Order: sequence, then C-alpha cells, then structure tokens
Amino acid sequence: MPAQTMEELVSLCKRRGFIFQGSEIYGGLQGTYDYGPLGVELKKNLKEAWWKANVYERDDMEGLDASVLMHRLVLRHSGHESTFSDPMVDSRETNKRYRLDHLLKEQTLLVRQNIATMMRLDNAEDITAIVSAMMEHPDKAQVVLVGAQVIEAETGKPGAWTAPRPFNMMFRTTVGPVADLESYAYLRPETAQGIFVNFKNVLDNTSRRLPFGIAQIGKAFRNEITPRNFIFRVREFEQMEIEFFVRPGEDEAWHEKWLEARLAWWDSVGIPRHQIEILDVPKADLAHYSKRTYDLMYNYPSLGFEEIEGIANRTDYDLGSHTRSQGDMNLSATVLPNEDSTQKLTVLEQTSNTHIVPYVIEPSAGVDRAVLAVLSEAYTVETLENGNERIVLKLRPHLSPIKVAVIPLARNKPELVETARKIKQDLQKLAWGRILLEDSGNVGKAYRRHDEVGTPFCVTVDYGTLGGEAENADLKDTVTVRNRDSMLQDRVAITDLAEYLRSRLFG
Ligand code: ATP
Repeated sequence: MPAQTMEELVSLCKRRGFIFQGSEIYGGLQGTYDYGPLGVELKKNLKEAWWKANVYERDDMEGLDASVLMHRLVLRHSGHESTFSDPMVDSRETNKRYRLDHLLKEQTLLVRQNIATMMRLDNAEDITAIVSAMMEHPDKAQVVLVGAQVIEAETGKPGAWTAPRPFNMMFRTTVGPVADLESYAYLRPETAQGIFVNFKNVLDNTSRRLPFGIAQIGKAFRNEITPRNFIFRVREFEQMEIEFFVRPGEDEAWHEKWLEARLAWWDSVGIPRHQIEILDVPKADLAHYSKRTYDLMYNYPSLGFEEIEGIANRTDYDLGSHTRSQGDMNLSATVLPNEDSTQKLTVLEQTSNTHIVPYVIEPSAGVDRAVLAVLSEAYTVETLENGNERIVLKLRPHLSPIKVAVIPLARNKPELVETARKIKQDLQKLAWGRILLEDSGNVGKAYRRHDEVGTPFCVTVDYGTLGGEAENADLKDTVTVRNRDSMLQDRVAITDLAEYLRSRLFG
C-alpha cells in the first residue's frame, strides 16, 4: 500500500537525507528544495530511466540540453509574456497573495454557492468558470469575494480582498553589467522553448525526417503565487520533455500513441495504471498553444489526483510562432507576426517538394512530481511477526539510490572491514550505481536504515567469511546476502556474488 499522508514522506525525506528545504539555515527560501545524498541518486536514476526509454530505446529521437537563460524575444513570440499568468488576489489585511483558483477551492461549498450566485453562474463546482468570470469583471469580483466572506487561511477569518489580476509567472533577470530596459532575459518557464528554437540546428545536423522527436531534461522556473505541498509545487523544478514533430493530420493518432507510451513508462518505474487518471482537459482550461491535452493525474497522498504529466497537442503553434514572416505559411494556429527570428522552422516534404510547419505532440513530465510519486508508491509499512513495524521503500532496483550495502560485522576488526571494502570496490566497478560500504558496526540498525532508503540487498561480511574457525571452515569466502523485500538471507560465495546480485537487480 502506498504512503497514506504527505507528512510520512516529508518526514522520511528529511530523516534519511533525500530532500531538504532550500536555504534552510537562513529560514528557507519558499518554493525551493535541495536534494540530499540519497535524493540526488534517486532523481538521477529516474532521469536516466526516462532518457533510456525515450531516447536510446527509440529510433526516432534526438537529445538536447539548451540553456536556462533565454532571450526575451523567445518568450515574447512563444506567447508566454502575454499569457503565462495565474489569477492572483491580495489580502489587504495580511499582505499575502493567493492564487484565486486555489483560494476558491479551499472554501466551503456554501461560500462557493454564494459566489456562483453573485457571479450569475449555476455551477459552484466549476472553479474554472468562476475564475474566468471573475477575471473578466475584477471590480465586481472584489465585491463578491468580500460579500461572500471568503476565508483567508492565514487568519481563519473573512479576508479583506483586492480585485483579482493576472500575475505573470516568469522570472526576469538582468544580463550583463548594464541594467537598462533592454538588457533582461528570462529563466525559461518550460524546457520546451529551448527545443523549438534549436529545431533547425537539430534538423540540419541529423537529417531527420518526420516523424521524429527531441528530448530534453532540465530546470524550469515559475514564480508560483503559492508554492506548496512539498516538492509538488515549487518555483524551481525539473522537467523531462519531448517535442515530437509530426505531419499535420497525423497529430491526433500520435497523441494517442504517446499517451499509451507514457502510461507504460510510468508503470515501469513503479506507478501502476490504476493510480493514474487521465484527464481530457476541458477546452476552457487549455494552455494558449494547445488543441487538446491529456493530463495524467497521479493519486498523491493527502492531495488526491493531481497532475504529474501533461501530454499536449501543441499544433503548429510553436514552430509557426518562431518562424520569420509566417504570412505565406498557411498555419492553423494564430500567432504573433514575427520579423525578429532569422529562420523558417519548416521541413521540406520530399514527396510534394513543399515546406511544411510540423505539428508537435508534447509529453511533459515533472521530475520532482515524479520523485514524489515514486517515493509514495514505494513507501510501505509492514508489521513483523514480533509485532514491530518496519518502514520499507520498495523501489524498483534501477531507481534505488544505493544498489547494495556491504556491511562488515564489526567496525573495529580490520580484516572484516578490508574484505568488505574489497567486495564494495569490485561491485562498484560493474557500474550499477552506488554501492555503499556501511561500517556503522551495527548490522541490525544498518538493515533498518537500508530498508527505509530502499537498498535492495545488504551483503554482510562476518567471521565465517574470514574462515578463521574450524567449525566455520565451509563458510570461508562466503557472505550473507539479505533481501530487502522478503528479509530472507542467503549464503553466497564471493566469487558468485556479482552474478547473484545482477540477476536479481536487473535480471
Ligand atoms: P499545474 O496545473 O499543476 O500548475 P501545469 O499544467 O502548469 O501544472 P505544465 O505547464 O503542463 O504544468 O508542465 C508540465 C509538467 O511540469 C507538469 O505536469 C508538472 O509535472 C511539472 N510542473 C509544472 N509546474 C510545476 C511546479 N510549480 N512544481 C513542480 N513541477 C511542476
């Protein structure tokens, strides 16, 4: 059974060194988290699994790593300058800012019913409709928020609300030594734009034909109004994105294919199909570039079903909007005129000898939300025969931060420690990931710790291994291997150890 509450996961992450609050010793910077010794391994393994499945194991993909800082014109022509905003409302009493849709969601049904009635809407559950009506009539919305006695969480009392307004979520920064009106750039709000502006570079260097994709993993930054729920909604996060370029007309079929491929991948990292709901995003909620989007909603502990990945049909919007002088391009999307770009982002179709602007299917997953989901699925509390509880992280072995812990029975016996070190070094050479020499000197505690961090196998070196005593002679050069999930132990010859572990870790 997965984790029951977010608190369980937050506590495990802190206790065992997976994830810490960013800038913690100065009181923390809201919306930022740092990955500790185990978190960095888990996150790296997850990203590698994604890259392997989506780049190496396919024949129609290329990889890319574009810069985080982007020219302001990229984000102007992408539409983010004008539309990448969330509805925000301020409290005059506490000076805190709230995302309007989140604020409304937290109210009682009765309060929402009053709001809906005052806004002349029939459905108090349709928060999207309420928000868009309020954004269209912000002055009236202010009167309604106050009149309906919308509660501010900070005080627990009806708030002194301002009129709502859009808040652009992009981080702007100055570039170079001169701070003038033109010398600014953006931290990218999605990795996708780096792929679109490199489309021609990749095409020219690889001679790809449609359909093909470009994959990228990297940081994205959004000045979320209310970052919350641990690493679920943060201001700095990572995305694993694919932009898959197809012929117009083939986009809908490819959209379905990617939906299936992505569900299969989530299953391969331990997130079963029944824990994901597919939301066919209502038209009113679609992003400015999207014709249709499937949101994959994972059942997070304490939160319920929330987005882990969006799979959007972005049409010819992106390549079209970054193309110079699109007048003659016959685009289906509505884009800003562009005389700033130097390129036409088109593909020559050999059969018809015409230039076309491809459509784009975009599976876009958040690394941090994926880490949270994988941890949640793996988190297990078991009651042992003696009545004690053990917490065990049943991670898929390829994701485990530590693949094998090698434990000398006593830390003050150099022969035990040296034998353990030699076994560790030999296993490390196999490049499976981290193998840890665990010489804390207490095997029982080490097992508990490695259960909690998801280490699939513990290898213990004891006096039998050294073969010092006559009655243990047959144990010479063997070790005990303990299985995390079954807790069963096998005695294995050191010469057979690598194959024993390999077949069970990756077999
Ligand atoms: P939400 O509606 O939850 O704000 P979104 O629809 O804006 O998400 P997308 O723009 O589709 O998100 O981004 C793709 C993916 O990036 C999301 O599915 C999510 O996994 C991740 N992501 C987006 N915003 C954040 C964030 N603030 N913190 C962590 N991950 C995020």
